[in-house]
Amino acid sequence: MRTSKCNKKASRRRFLGGLATAVLGATLPFVRSAAAFATKGLFSLRQGLAARIKGPIIARGESNYEEWRRSMVWQMRKPNRYPELIVRPTSVNEVSEAIGYARRAGLKIAAKSGGHHQWANFLRDEGMLLDMWNFRGLAVDPDRGTAHVGPSLWGYQFDHELARHGYAFPVARAPTVPLGGYLLGGGIGINWDNWGGPSCFSVLGAEVVTADGNLLSVSPERHQDLYWALRGGGNGFPGVVTRFNLKLYPRPGFIATSTYSFPASYLEEVADWVVDLAEGGLQKAGVIMVLATDPSAAINAPPAETLLCTVRVDVFADSETEARGILSQVTRHPMARKAAQRSEFQPTDLETMFVGRPGKKRSFGLERHSVDNIWTDTPKDALINIRESLLEAPSRRSRVVVVVKDHQNPLPDAAFSVKASAYIGIFMVWDNAAEDAAILAWLRKNSTAMQPFASGHYINEVDVQGNPQKIRRSFSPEAWQRLRAVRKKYDPNGVFHDFFGLANG
Ligand SMILES: Cc1cc2nc3c(=O)[nH]c(=O)nc-3n(C[C@H](O)[C@H](O)[C@H](O)COP(=O)(O)OP(=O)(O)OC[C@H]3O[C@@H](n4cnc5c(N)ncnc54)[C@H](O)[C@@H]3O)c2cc1C
Repeated sequence: MRTSKCNKKASRRRFLGGLATAVLGATLPFVRSAAAFATKGLFSLRQGLAARIKGPIIARGESNYEEWRRSMVWQMRKPNRYPELIVRPTSVNEVSEAIGYARRAGLKIAAKSGGHHQWANFLRDEGMLLDMWNFRGLAVDPDRGTAHVGPSLWGYQFDHELARHGYAFPVARAPTVPLGGYLLGGGIGINWDNWGGPSCFSVLGAEVVTADGNLLSVSPERHQDLYWALRGGGNGFPGVVTRFNLKLYPRPGFIATSTYSFPASYLEEVADWVVDLAEGGLQKAGVIMVLATDPSAAINAPPAETLLCTVRVDVFADSETEARGILSQVTRHPMARKAAQRSEFQPTDLETMFVGRPGKKRSFGLERHSVDNIWTDTPKDALINIRESLLEAPSRRSRVVVVVKDHQNPLPDAAFSVKASAYIGIFMVWDNAAEDAAILAWLRKNSTAMQPFASGHYINEVDVQGNPQKIRRSFSPEAWQRLRAVRKKYDPNGVFHDFFGLANG
């Protein structure tokens, strides 16, 4: 390829700029990246792509690379993985161009939407990171009760627009979780049990750019195997989703919440109660239990006195009368009266459920996070197992979240194929990088201790870095084989990175 004098000058300036930053920054990875920029001809790769794409393209070694790379990851814990190019396409055509270009240049591709994956499985060494940030479109079809949605649209923004049309969708509770990775991995969202189960089962179809750069319209009728993989294939999905078509649900007329907190010594009884509530036919409701340190406790209070077991029942009813009727089943239960603190029948709305009540501190990615999880049919045993350990957790903000679901529903035929009566997630939150090793070691020790109770894992929140074999256990054996076959069919030459953890990052 011929390069103009001007381009050569600019190239040299950028290269020197990148190198200077590397020297000033004095960090080994960055020195390595500057070297890669020079030796692998990244600049010419970048230039070649720039002719096809209007959106930003940042090559490893450029002075703004590290800022961009870090901004891809939602939280403060940024893994030391370095893609060679970060590309932010502005249209479907540009996605196709970028994929075609990467394929021809021998660059492996990873896609990201919101970058919320807590192990940053989209951030890989080498290759191209396709940042789908610009794909945040939304078109609601009120007559059909469906919506076309871009993968980077936040759940909160989606819900806000749906409210105008009297609809809702089981989005994640945290407002900034977008739909892309969330839906691909399953999606355990608000009122999910009453709105179609895992949110991926409300995916009617999608527009997908495959490894050959073609745009496919995927639905139950067209490219059925890709549609099957779309619903739960997670990081193993062989394509880039540019748009989802989603089924919507009528917005509840009245939402209310009852919350009960107990000392952790009541854990056994509380766990039994929660399972009873879920299995006892509590209609139009969702039950969540959290085992965590009382956030209002004094910092020096003994952990045994501050560890609380909190049960929250949300009811999504048509009317206040109906909501009262449903929640009265909870209020009447003897366990409700044993609670140390209770707050019953608090009217709320979906908006409040996202951002929390006024004055309540919420996490928006300004801390360090990690997570692991199990699906289990014996939540009580699993929780008893972790209770003592939680008293010694290195972060007081660690919490164990239990979501009990109606396990009577058979799962539709889809890549999302592992389920049990309860999901248990261990969530770690902390501030200082110096604590990383101790916190991750604690998480992994306790995840291992929970393993005997696990019937599988939720792919979106599994510790793919510390325990990659859990990836396979996030699918039924049949679904795993089928997902591998679908990958081979649509990406025979491995243009897309494989699951993080299964391959070399
Ligand atoms: C604060 C917080 C709250 C959360 N709450 C919930 C919750 O309530 N329920 C729940 O189920 N999960 C929850 N999660 C987990 C969440 O589902 C995952 O982190 C999910 O990956 C987020 O989606 P994302 O678009 O940010 O994914 P990203 O981190 O952007 O990507 C993750 C992976 O998804 C794939 N991917 C993403 N976009 C595309 C695309 N357009 N095309 C092809 N592949 C793509 C890629 O393989 C990528 O590696 C939460 C996470 C956080 C950080």
